[in-house]
Amino acid sequence: MKKISIIIPVYNEEANLPALYEALRPLIDNQMTDRQYDWEVIMINDGSRDRSSEILASLRERDPRIVDVNLSRNFGKENAMAAGFDMVTGDAAVIMDADLQHPVDTIPRMVAEWEAGWQDVYGLRTDRSTDSRMKRKLTGIYYRLLQRCTRMDVLADAGDFRLLDRQCIRALRSLRESQRNTKALYSWIGFKKKHVEFTYGKRQGGTSSFSFGRLLTLAIDGITGFTTAPLRFASVLGILTSTGAILYLIYILIKTLIYGDPVAGFPTLICTILFLGGIQLLAIGIIGEYIGRIFHETKNQPLYIIDTISGLPESGEPNRAKRQ
Ligand code: UDP
Ligand code: MG
Repeated sequence: MKKISIIIPVYNEEANLPALYEALRPLIDNQMTDRQYDWEVIMINDGSRDRSSEILASLRERDPRIVDVNLSRNFGKENAMAAGFDMVTGDAAVIMDADLQHPVDTIPRMVAEWEAGWQDVYGLRTDRSTDSRMKRKLTGIYYRLLQRCTRMDVLADAGDFRLLDRQCIRALRSLRESQRNTKALYSWIGFKKKHVEFTYGKRQGGTSSFSFGRLLTLAIDGITGFTTAPLRFASVLGILTSTGAILYLIYILIKTLIYGDPVAGFPTLICTILFLGGIQLLAIGIIGEYIGRIFHETKNQPLYIIDTISGLPESGEPNRAKRQ
């Protein structure tokens, strides 16, 4: 029998976990799919500060299909998902959020597409009305920019709700970069992709952990992780401003030679200094982003540290975290 793993990163989700398990039950009892599958639900507790860990332990006691993993602290959703990828033992893996925003009844349709031969079946949001207009607009601009810089198809309405074939999981495991934007990684690995539409639900309980600042960091990681286009942009800006400066210099020289120079032009001087200062800082900032990335990558730290893990059968998979 084929086996499907479900990966769920969990951070402060005590209010949602029981309802999530109830929602998953008909699926993992094989009542929602045509065929029978072995299911495994890998819950990665990403250093929650609430009672999520206890709830997970009790769910695990009730249902042996649940794999209960506790990371040693909060590593962030991207790294928690990386831990999930490392632990998958199924032929395919579904990634979903713990807050019930990803409806369970979309999964059987994903599984059907997978059975039809698609390797990366991603959920496509049909409706973003739960997001503010500002967020929608910024997201739209960002993804257009990302696509243009990287020439990769990263879609604004597709996210982490997806089913990945074993081959995709293997490819993702080989990408160990530390400042991750997993959404861009899905595009990078390629494979045959197909979408399944779904309506994004409202978060059931608790609060979203993604503030504007965290989303901005993720956005910058998406760009600096895949393209050096901003560096090119800084060089072009440098060439343009220096060309402008030379032309202006020639103009000033000629003007002074012909008309003489009663000391004037103070406002122009100030404007020029400030303008050039601004551009220099911008360029240094861009270079700094990349140096920062190099710094983090050269440290070569593991993406996550496991505290406890219960329920994973031993297997010879490379890269698999060891059972403890
Ligand atoms: N999450 C996580 N670690 C974090 C933040 C979030 O594992 O540091 C999990 C969270 O429990 C949820 C998923 O990532 O299952 C999505 O988080 P959230 O709902 O806060 O994000 P949003 O839906 O607002 O994008
Ligand atoms: Mg959410």
